[in-house]
Amino acid sequence: MNLENRAIIITGASSGIGEATAKKLAKHGAKVTLMARSEDKLKALKSDIENEGGKALVVPGDVTNKKDFDKVVEKTVSEFGKVDGLINNAGLMPLSFIDKLKTDEWEKMVDVNIKGVLNGVSAVLPEMKKNDNGDIINISSMAAHRYFPGGAVYCATKSAVKMFSEGLRQELAPKYGINVTSIEPGAVATNLTSTITDEDIKEKMSGMLEMETLESEDIANAVYYALSQPKRVNINDVYIVPSEQK
Ligand code: NDP
Repeated sequence: MNLENRAIIITGASSGIGEATAKKLAKHGAKVTLMARSEDKLKALKSDIENEGGKALVVPGDVTNKKDFDKVVEKTVSEFGKVDGLINNAGLMPLSFIDKLKTDEWEKMVDVNIKGVLNGVSAVLPEMKKNDNGDIINISSMAAHRYFPGGAVYCATKSAVKMFSEGLRQELAPKYGINVTSIEPGAVATNLTSTITDEDIKEKMSGMLEMETLESEDIANAVYYALSQPKRVNINDVYIVPSEQK
């Protein structure tokens, strides 16, 4: 139980990687704050965690809304006494070819995948600075390493998250004891592709997912690995891909 009593906020906890991470961290003793827009799913997850003897708090919210994030931090502090960690996991991936000009989808990706991460950091930083302690884990992607068809904007958002993580680490870890990790998964079996509206991409994706992908629990294990290190160890990047993915 080496995460005993650590208060950790997880965004995008209502499904996929966020949900698996919340279960994993709670199982190892962390008190988890669950944030996403789907309150019913978060409540069901809280019950699952509590039935296994863990502690969870539900604070529904949208990561693009700074006030929602402030509420998440306030409630975490009032319920658990502090904020020890933030897992910036919420994200979406409506892939499309650039010439389709699906500009609303581009903006949504920038708002959630990049600005959502910035909002999370600005919300938790005062509390972490006060305590001279913290862990921030940002879920970037293999898309930060390489372009794939229809992924120009998505890849750009995940590259931004990866580079922002490195800047955060250099500015925060030596000065405030706040360790920062970027996790970059390849294909994971989740609902992430459900927001794709470009029919040409949908066709391409169906072929790609014939390989054996990662499970959300594999990424939860990587998050746990980064969090469970001694304080002197900062795991910078975890690049984790399915064995079958080229
Ligand atoms: P899911 O679609 O299963 O989960 C996405 C989560 O993000 C949901 O909980 C959703 O909750 C939440 N979310 C979306 N928009 C918002 C918002 N505006 N405010 C708050 N929460 C939001 O996909 P994954 O689990 O796969 O995705 C998690 C992260 O992993 C993403 O950042 C994704 O880019 C990254 N990733 C995924 C890979 C994969 O192959 N699956 C590979 C590499 C990285 P709700 O709708 O309830 O708000």
